[in-house]
Amino acid sequence: MKPKRSYKQKPERELREAKQKIDYFFEQAENYFLEGNRELANKYVKKARRKAMSVKINLGRYKDYKNKFCKYCYSYIKLGVNAKRRIKNKIQLITCLECGKVTRKPFNKS
Ligand SMILES: [Zn+2]
Repeated sequence: MKPKRSYKQKPERELREAKQKIDYFFEQAENYFLEGNRELANKYVKKARRKAMSVKINLGRYKDYKNKFCKYCYSYIKLGVNAKRRIKNKIQLITCLECGKVTRKPFNKS
């Protein structure tokens, strides 16, 4: 028997659709970034973020996304281009070269 989760229904379809849109926005952001149009890339990150907020998704929780933007200035970042990574005591230090802030992330060897 499957336990029923009837106490709180999550709009799963809505979440899935939102996630698809966010994927698309990040794809666009990457394309524009690679073309050298960083302004437009950042615009798409903001769109993704707004979409995420509308369904209360925390973008930082998704591995696919969290390395792709700076959580301080929401610029699209790419390691080696406008972001630097250093590893120190199993912690990743990602420096956004747009705003100069450092994001720390645990470094998982896998
Ligand atoms: Zn930044």
